[in-house]
Order: sequence, then C-alpha cells, then structure tokens
Amino acid sequence: MLLYDAHNHLQDDRFAGRQAELVAAAQAAGVARMVVNGACESDWPQVQSLARSFSVVLPSFGYHPWYIGERTSDWQGALVKFLDDTPGAVIGEIGLDRWKPDLPYDGQEEVFTWQLRLAAERNVAASIHCLQAWGRMFDLLRANARPARGFLLHSYGGPVEMVKPLADLGAHFSFPGYYLHERKVRQRETFKQVPLERLLIETDAPDQCLPDELSQHPLTDAATGRPLNHPANLGAVYAGLAKELNLPLPELAARVGENFARLFE
Ligand SMILES: [Zn+2]
Repeated sequence: MLLYDAHNHLQDDRFAGRQAELVAAAQAAGVARMVVNGACESDWPQVQSLARSFSVVLPSFGYHPWYIGERTSDWQGALVKFLDDTPGAVIGEIGLDRWKPDLPYDGQEEVFTWQLRLAAERNVAASIHCLQAWGRMFDLLRANARPARGFLLHSYGGPVEMVKPLADLGAHFSFPGYYLHERKVRQRETFKQVPLERLLIETDAPDQCLPDELSQHPLTDAATGRPLNHPANLGAVYAGLAKELNLPLPELAARVGENFARLFE
C-alpha cells in the first residue's frame, strides 16, 4: 500500500541533519511521496535541495503568513525563480492567520492573493493554512483566480457548513494525525462530510503530533527534548482516519492516492 503525505515541513530546523534517516524510515513505512512546504525565502533553498536529494520529496514554495514580516523587496521574483528552477514544484504554504497572538494581519491578504493568483496562472496546486479567518478566506478564494486543478486546505478546521461551498470552489481537505486526539471531535465529524474525491491525509511533521499511543515513530527535538512528529507516522494517520470513516484501509489509501496525483502531480 502506497501512502501520500499531503503536507509536511521536512526542511524544518528541528529536523536538521536527520533528513536522510527520516526519509528512509518514511519510505520503509510505505510513504511514496510527501509535499514538503517551504514557508519563507530563507527556507526555500533547503526545500529545493531536499527535492534534489530525495525523489520522495514534492517541493512546494510559498510565504506563510507567520513569516511575511521577513520578506525582502524581491520576494516575488525569488518565488518565481524557485518555481522555475525546481521541476514539479507547487505553491505553499500560503494563507491567512488571525489566531496567532501578536501576528499582524496587515499585508496577509495581499501576500496570500498574489500567491494564489500565481498558482492559478501556472495551474499548480496551492497549499493553504487558515486559522480564524474562514469568512475572509472564502471571500478571497471566490473573488480571485484559482488553480483549475484545485487547492488544498491543510488541516482543515473550519466550520462543517463551509465544506461544500469550499469544495465547489475546488478545495481539497487534508486530515492531520493531531485530529485523532480524543478532544478533536468536531474536526473528526467535519471530515466525515468531506467528499471522498477531495480527501487527503497529512502529517504536518514536525508539528501536530499524534496521540502517544498511536505514534509509531517517537522522536524528540535534540535541542529542547520536546516531542516531534515523525513523517513515518503517516501510516498511523491513515489507519486512524479509516477507522473514523468506517472505510477499509486499502480503499481509503487508493482514493487518497488518486486525489494526491490529480491535485499535485
Ligand atoms: Zn504547515
């Protein structure tokens, strides 16, 4: 059974120096491809170099709302160049965030919509982060050009009522292992309403750890001793979601594999 990770951050500094070992473990666990999302100009070179080293890596470049304060005057030119120079590259992580304390909202919409339109022009997938800004997200998605092949709402945690209207605009929805925590009932219920042909699965590694009893690959941050999510935990996320949806695991895996190919490849 082949597994597809719709969203992670293999380039994250907390993984520094361990990427070869993490990739080998993920491949041994059945991971066929992983979308590795850059978040700012300073980590795009690392994403590109991972894609050159490991064929499992599907490179993605974008400015995440948390880091737009760091952007240089030529960030748009730099983004276009990374896309041009990296075969198969897609766009992300981009988005809107009104949740993170002290993060300015100013500028987020312009940076997001510029990147969304770039994804539309090139017809490549865009991977989107959205926290506490679903109304504006919907309006901006509706008002702007979107990639014809669709876009990903990673770790979708918006209202269940918005699943259909967002799907009508081309949304795909990826389920993280973090939603397998007991208390994430609302998010699990929401995913039961996602059309099967729009469903994807992600680790978001090194973030969004699974419940301890489900994690098959425990990992800690050497610097802080904090737990990290290992990309090889993807199989446990698939198994957890299959149980929630009451679907045989091979059937879910086949659907997710088709969806991944259609959106990203
Ligand atoms: Zn992310």
